[in-house]
Amino acid sequence: MTHKDQYYEIQNNLNSIIGSYQKYIMFITTTNEFSMPVFDRLKEVGWEHPLEINIADNGKPYLNRAGCLTGAMGNGSLPDPYSLCIMDYEFIQYPHFPRERAPALSKRQAIIYHGWAHEYFHHYQRSHSFERSMGMEGDCCGGSDHINSPAWWIEGAAGIFPNLWLRYYWKEFSEFENLNYEDVDVEMMNLDHYYIQSKKEMQGLIRSSDPNRKACTEFTDKEEYRETAYCNWSIFNAYVAYISSYQALWVGIPRDYHELGFDESFRKHVGITKEEAYENFKIFMNAEDPDSPAPVGFFPEGPITDYADFLIINSPQEIYDSRLEELKKNQFRSNN
Ligand SMILES: [Zn+2]
Repeated sequence: MTHKDQYYEIQNNLNSIIGSYQKYIMFITTTNEFSMPVFDRLKEVGWEHPLEINIADNGKPYLNRAGCLTGAMGNGSLPDPYSLCIMDYEFIQYPHFPRERAPALSKRQAIIYHGWAHEYFHHYQRSHSFERSMGMEGDCCGGSDHINSPAWWIEGAAGIFPNLWLRYYWKEFSEFENLNYEDVDVEMMNLDHYYIQSKKEMQGLIRSSDPNRKACTEFTDKEEYRETAYCNWSIFNAYVAYISSYQALWVGIPRDYHELGFDESFRKHVGITKEEAYENFKIFMNAEDPDSPAPVGFFPEGPITDYADFLIINSPQEIYDSRLEELKKNQFRSNN
């Protein structure tokens, strides 16, 4: 399959789970010559930066300011901005590793699919803040009337999603036909491993796997900003889903944060304040035997749609509440 066909297959699957949100556009740039149609479309949707492919010192081609859901129209100056994701063809083929050290094709494809799911999840998050800016008031780069969503939620909710998603749905993708789970196991899909690592880190038994970070021995408001954080956000988000539900984490919170702001919406759907969740997480991670696997409901294994219903995000409260019970039952069923 071409990369374009692969993208459509993945995006169709994501639309069936998260819902179809408009104004999200995926671009793949190549050379200046072959990127002309991409440049034309970028101009149409208000891209204000130079349209020229440059070559970086490491030999990789890039378009200035390219990236996913950054820069572009994300500055909050428009009430209904596009979400653009611009990737270079070199990255699509060889994500994260240089060609010489690249893993097998299936793993590289899995990394890209995982990334597409993560970026689309960000678009979904952003769609529900409407004219209010995502992120914290104290964040860089302007914006207005922030909903005050902490970095740990924006990245962590969008971080746990693609791991749980690809762990289940990989078998449905054409390029992975006749392969095994091991062939597509990338990023943090091995969640139980990261769960145990995070516990050991919290208990002071190991250092951070990232040499530039100090160990995450407590979860505090430092995690609300990208610059001061050092904890594994996906694991913390899974914990929040465990003490409430994935429905609360992924759908409940964004359902109400335009109206209530993040903190109040969190309290409404999780039942405690975010500060209480930070404290409880530390207690939970310290109380557990560092080597025992995550409890039932932490990392559900069935289809996402069994335990999270994104499509009821705008439904009346009674419908939402009655569906929630059923979804929670599925999340905490041992053989989900
Ligand atoms: Zn992200």
